[in-house]
Amino acid sequence: MNAELLRIGDDIVAMHAVVTEEGVTLVDAGLPGDRRILQRALAAVGRDVSDIRGVVLTHGDSDHIGVAEWLRTAHGVPVYVHEDDAGRAQGEKAPSAPGGAKRLGPTLQFFAVALRRGALRTKHLGAVRTMRDGDVLDLPGAPEILGMPGHSAGSVAIRIPAVDAIFVGDAVTTRHVLNGSTDLQLGPFSDDPELTPVSLEHLRGLPERRIVVGHGPIFPGTAADMLAALGR
Ligand SMILES: [Zn+2]
Repeated sequence: MNAELLRIGDDIVAMHAVVTEEGVTLVDAGLPGDRRILQRALAAVGRDVSDIRGVVLTHGDSDHIGVAEWLRTAHGVPVYVHEDDAGRAQGEKAPSAPGGAKRLGPTLQFFAVALRRGALRTKHLGAVRTMRDGDVLDLPGAPEILGMPGHSAGSVAIRIPAVDAIFVGDAVTTRHVLNGSTDLQLGPFSDDPELTPVSLEHLRGLPERRIVVGHGPIFPGTAADMLAALGR
């Protein structure tokens, strides 16, 4: 299958589109103000939002669900989230998690970008389709869902061999939102920081050569390379 991976947004917050002949699967949905950048990115490859067959969320945090409710209500796009994050995506309060060491500059930069892209206008989802560990969704690219609790209970890795990629959400980051570090590391704001490395172990052995994170550049390597970079 011919499939193309589009990275939409920037190294502060990105969503990704998997573009195939059968349509588009969106992985995560950015910030609420990201409609325009999504439309522009799809137009650049001759598609538009009517080609989106589904949104698959790596987890339910507000900087990942951005335009999902708009796509659902205005364009009839189903939005998939792991059953354990369904409440979070629909506006139930998430447990507050410690963020770790902060540096003021990068923290302000994150919030400045987030504000400009509508972070205060969070639109929680009115309805979701739930998914579980092991599901393969009937969407372009046939995303395979691998439960990866840690950052949140319903965090998942999304494996899409058609674009040689595994999307790991905020389990790991290549641009720490709070201190600007670009080393690959575990993501901040984790509900259960001890559990994430255990979950990541399940990815070892997968052959895909791009690890796609929610914040920061794509890590060019396999899950085993990622684990090695994490010192595991
Ligand atoms: Zn995030």
